[in-house]
Amino acid sequence: MNRPKRMLVENVGWAAEVAASDPDFFQTLAQGQSPTVLWLGCSDSRVPAETITHSKPGDLFVHRNIANLFSSDDDNTMSVLEYAVNVLKVGDVIVCGHYGCGGVRASLLPLSDALPHVNRRIAPLCALARAHGDELGAMRTMDSRIDRLAELSVLEQVGALRDTPIVRDAERPPRVHGWIFGLHDGRIKVLSSGAPADADAGGEPTAAAKAAPAPSAAQRLIETAGH
Ligand code: ZN
Repeated sequence: MNRPKRMLVENVGWAAEVAASDPDFFQTLAQGQSPTVLWLGCSDSRVPAETITHSKPGDLFVHRNIANLFSSDDDNTMSVLEYAVNVLKVGDVIVCGHYGCGGVRASLLPLSDALPHVNRRIAPLCALARAHGDELGAMRTMDSRIDRLAELSVLEQVGALRDTPIVRDAERPPRVHGWIFGLHDGRIKVLSSGAPADADAGGEPTAAAKAAPAPSAAQRLIETAGH
């Protein structure tokens, strides 16, 4: 059985399982969506937003592209943001990159003539790599350069999102978070640029969380990048 056929078979099984455990699930789903989170992630098949966060249909409004890049010049990403903020009124926007990202790796290598669209797409990453050339050049391995550039890029996208009039001028501006997913352990790390907005977005522990003698399991899961 080829993969698409297998997927259709699996879909029948999935729909039956969901309906059996929650008879009203699909009736509720069909009535409309009210996700509270916009997820901007990488197209990489290993980083499925819903799976890695145990989310269900209806929970996340998702946009994925190569290397989770945001650009105010791109109607694709801008239309998703506009709809998420102005119509769905999401409270949180999450940019989630990942270590070992192929798009980030490509930006650090000679560009391939066979991939003109990819090359144009990752041009901002190439520029970011040049801007941080000293820091990246001092790193001993290619993998560490890729992973650091992936972190820097997430923070860059977070800043660009916060600067858009859609976010800035929203009646209730959504919090914008920078996260990065580790393929090696399946864990998400919260990144912080040090901006005050990061504390509000959960990038750094709040004063109350720091003072708490016994942090909750969720708080224990939060790690800050420290840069
Ligand atoms: Zn990627």
